[in-house]
Amino acid sequence: MIDLLNRALQQQLGLFIFHAHPNQKLVKMSDDDLASAGDLLPRFQLVQPQRPHGSVVFGDQSIAGAVLMPHTDDPVDRFSLRIIQDHEIRTWPLPEAPAAEYLLFTRQALTDNPLLRSLLKRTVVAVVGLSGGGSQVVPYLAALGIGEIIAIDDQRADQSNRLATPNLGWIDALFGIHKVTAAKWRSWLINHHVKYTGIRARVPETRAQEALKRADIIIGCVNNLHARSDLNEIAWRYCIPYIDIGLRLITDEHAPDDPRPLSGIPGNQFKAIPGGPCLWCTEFLTDSKLQHETGGRGRSYLQDAAGRNALVAPFNGTLASEAAAEVLRLITGISYSQESRRQYDGFAGTLHEFSVTRKANCPLCSAVLAAGDPIWQPIYSTKE
Ligand SMILES: [Zn+2]
Ligand SMILES: [Zn+2]
Repeated sequence: MIDLLNRALQQQLGLFIFHAHPNQKLVKMSDDDLASAGDLLPRFQLVQPQRPHGSVVFGDQSIAGAVLMPHTDDPVDRFSLRIIQDHEIRTWPLPEAPAAEYLLFTRQALTDNPLLRSLLKRTVVAVVGLSGGGSQVVPYLAALGIGEIIAIDDQRADQSNRLATPNLGWIDALFGIHKVTAAKWRSWLINHHVKYTGIRARVPETRAQEALKRADIIIGCVNNLHARSDLNEIAWRYCIPYIDIGLRLITDEHAPDDPRPLSGIPGNQFKAIPGGPCLWCTEFLTDSKLQHETGGRGRSYLQDAAGRNALVAPFNGTLASEAAAEVLRLITGISYSQESRRQYDGFAGTLHEFSVTRKANCPLCSAVLAAGDPIWQPIYSTKE
């Protein structure tokens, strides 16, 4: 216990005690459980007043417990709990369903089943960036019957988008429709039961951040490393799985004159699960790469001297459908590896998987994981 309290203090984390009462469908805290929570939680709060602390008991399909929020004396007993385990995200309590539906779900997770539908229906997925990639992710999520899609983008559609995606058409470009509005219409036409929240903002603007905190999964379809860095940090702070996709076109820099020949269509898909490796652990993000980007790297897609854009819609489509598939894997648990980075080769049409590992001294993982909202504390006293 002393060791745990020390670690909580060092890493500024809350402390939660978990145990199980097997074979209880509607589980309750026993008198002993309540007594020990009433004894321990205020002590945890003394050591770490800025964090919630709790005691949680699992039944077969339900949870119960007590959570003491910062700066309060009375624990709350109604809450939901998201568990990110090897291959899946589980949010407790589980939906009520007959045993036959549970059995079908565990054996054939993708078979249409009221339990699967209710799991999808209560999931909130945020899609950041609605250009080539994100505009193709949203229709997949709508088709899956995701409960709520939070779409974040501050741009309007223009002609260049028509080459990057089949989901921003001539009419969107003609009227300069906001990308969040265009995606809303497509989502509604595919499945009008899906709640759609469009946020016309950029990350890390406050409105975008507040919306992202509500998400169960964040999909980043942004075209620069700074935005990825912000998204990874938000995902880590609030323990939200983060799926990142991106595509570039590169030309042979050594070729003598324009137009330089196309030398590659590299893309990436990164699944970052809180507790596992982040984008910094794997050096997908580094300080020098971020600095280099600020030093004037422009658009991610190719544009020739005459300002002509490149046709990339099908390449974006591969990555977008994989991002949507990742959502389904996380919810159903059919995934075979917890975290991975996959590299896309647009010339060959292949996705290569690389295993990634967590770095011991990673700055993001050690300072920000599960940190919640930033806490502003005075570092010196203004009193004389
Ligand atoms: Zn108990
Ligand atoms: Zn890390």
